[in-house]
Amino acid sequence: MSKLYIVPTPIGNLEDITLRAIRILKETEMVYAEDTRVTKRLLNHLEIKKTVAPFHAHNEHKTLSRAIDTIKANNSTVLVSDAGTPAISDPGFLLVRECIANDIEIECLPGPAALIPALVASGFPCDRFVFEGFLPHKKGRQTRLMVIAEEKRTSILYESPHRLVKCLGQIVEFMGEDRKVCVARELTKIYEEYKRGTASEIKAYYEERPPKGEIVIVIEGKQ
Ligand code: SAM
Repeated sequence: MSKLYIVPTPIGNLEDITLRAIRILKETEMVYAEDTRVTKRLLNHLEIKKTVAPFHAHNEHKTLSRAIDTIKANNSTVLVSDAGTPAISDPGFLLVRECIANDIEIECLPGPAALIPALVASGFPCDRFVFEGFLPHKKGRQTRLMVIAEEKRTSILYESPHRLVKCLGQIVEFMGEDRKVCVARELTKIYEEYKRGTASEIKAYYEERPPKGEIVIVIEGKQ
């Protein structure tokens, strides 16, 4: 029976690939990747030679039925994204849903995802949390911020470095300057950084030092 493996890959530190991920990548017949160049670099590093075909956000719908045929023709296929867990703010959900509809078995390996270390190291409660992914840039952004403002559970956002200060400004505007946040930047990489404090303190910090790299914002729930 055909199977689709969802294989998480490192979010910065190559040591974070699991032994099982390496074995599955070695054993699989083919790999679907968000960006084939990124995945080929990882496979080269692991000394694995595989056919890598593109499966990314822009062609996800178009590729879907062709991908299902290919997965059915193989015993095992792997889906990876550029970094972290596929389908988490990355392509994957539609393929998983379509595989389930086609009786293709899904096996998702546990592994790197930026939201988890950011949440756990934030120091905010992790027993219940809400993952908001990327907020929309324009339409719908304010509505989402208003909902998060009332949320009692810890909220997690993905944000780009050039929008971080703006986003922290909006957290101040919608949730008050004393709402506690944690900005987790460049997780697992050389310049990994956690900044914890009130939204206005952290905004002032990054206004002084425009950030680079990849960012997760963790927001304490409404008290
Ligand atoms: N699939 C990935 C995952 O499992 O986390 C997320 C992919 S999404 C396209 C990329 C976003 O994830 C970045 O813009 C950033 O918000 C977050 N991210 C990924 N790697 C990160 C890292 N090393 N440190 C902080 N945030 C990271």
